[in-house]
Amino acid sequence: MQPKSNIVHLPVYQPGKPVEDVKRELGLSEVIKLASNENPFGCSEQAKAAIVNEVTNIYPDGAAVDLTNALADYLGVQSNQIVFGAGSSEIILMAARAFFVPGDETIMADETFAQYKHNAKVENATIIEVPLKDGKHDLPAMLAKVTDRTKIIWVCNPNNPTGTIVGREELVQFLDQVPEHVLVVLDEAYCEFLDNPDFPDGIELLPNYRNLLVLRTFSKIYGLAALRIGYGVGHPDVIRYINQVREPFNTSRAAQAAAKAAVADQAFIDFCRTENNKGIAYLSEQFDRLGLSYFPAHGNFIMVDTGLPSPQVFDALLRKGVIVRPGWACYPTYIRVSIGKEEENRKFLNAFEQVLQEAAVHG
Ligand SMILES: *Cc1c(COP(=O)(O)O)cnc(C)c1O
Repeated sequence: MQPKSNIVHLPVYQPGKPVEDVKRELGLSEVIKLASNENPFGCSEQAKAAIVNEVTNIYPDGAAVDLTNALADYLGVQSNQIVFGAGSSEIILMAARAFFVPGDETIMADETFAQYKHNAKVENATIIEVPLKDGKHDLPAMLAKVTDRTKIIWVCNPNNPTGTIVGREELVQFLDQVPEHVLVVLDEAYCEFLDNPDFPDGIELLPNYRNLLVLRTFSKIYGLAALRIGYGVGHPDVIRYINQVREPFNTSRAAQAAAKAAVADQAFIDFCRTENNKGIAYLSEQFDRLGLSYFPAHGNFIMVDTGLPSPQVFDALLRKGVIVRPGWACYPTYIRVSIGKEEENRKFLNAFEQVLQEAAVHG
């Protein structure tokens, strides 16, 4: 067989360790997972209730017309400006599929969400990575890398894994200078967690930029990661290109119904945002107390410098029943911790403090 030469060396995605596996392997009765930025409060009860009638023999509406109209109303955009994917990961895949031919250039931060690079590699695009500056996107340096061959620039705001944001003014300055032949994909997977007046709402910027695609998801604050649904919002031309490569039935009936009900229940979202902010404040204070540096957190996760090799900290925390994310190439001593419920954050902190003390003692 002859698979594409550019895919044969690609790694298969390794998800965060499942709680049940860790319990069994380590003989632990209680394990908390703070590794995949999931919502510790689950999802809206109304979203759950909406699913029941959708488990049927009937194919979904591939265009998700009902959900599209509801979401367009909520966001204040036209229906032809929205496209849904099986998670916003699938929008990333579809954008790569629709735009790249081999040899095209694409610009992204180093470190950022891994799926931009992965999908660009699948399409044989040339990847140009621009180091973060203090954990933040360096937009002027990214702009300086644009050539005639550039097709897509990826901006993750807040950035995963660092949790930093670019402010409104710097983003607008950047967008004003990006040439029209380049698509900017602005990934706002965590935007609903923010109530920071300096955070730019990508959808408000859309009327000014034909070459902007904003990505959002129901996997994070909406708590519907299991159902796989996310969306892109942009100029109708960009949305049409994505639709032209979209699989006919890429989102399920259950996901569409749950997403529609979830948007209607903003009280649940407000509750999750408030609790998440408390969790960020708590962990930031505790890291300050321990004298640890961390990036200012704006999503539902925080990245902290442990001062030790992160795989070692990961293993030690695992043995104490806490799963986090280690292994960031640019930040070998950092771990990324998702914000949990109050008691989960406290359990993590206690375990983490023990791990650091044990390492100090055993040198
Ligand atoms: C989680 C995440 C996504 C998308 O997740 P889906 O479950 O595929 O919607 C996209 N971008 C970033 C930065 C994320 O962290």
